Amino acid sequence: MSVPAVLRWAMPWPISGGNGQRIACPQCDITVPLVVAMDLDAIDSQEPSWLTCPSGHAWAEASLPTALPAQFLADLLDAEPGLLGSLDVLRREYGGDL
Ligand SMILES: [Zn+2]
Repeated sequence: MSVPAVLRWAMPWPISGGNGQRIACPQCDITVPLVVAMDLDAIDSQEPSWLTCPSGHAWAEASLPTALPAQFLADLLDAEPGLLGSLDVLRREYGGDL
């Protein structure tokens, strides 16, 4: 099964890192909506996730290993297999290259 590797998704709710801390933009302190890069191939990776705030600041969030959003996306696809067919649409709407 071939799945687009990276989905960049504006999370409509505040997100917390692996340490339980609410994640905010280090430059403007915005917490919602942060765009998270979700990479299904990174499900075992502890590399920092790349986040973007609405003002366009981008940073690598060390408290959010890429495995977490990857797991989130995998769970989402498990719960809603139909979403797989919508990934291209989602990527067109929210996606882009890192
Ligand atoms: Zn910002």
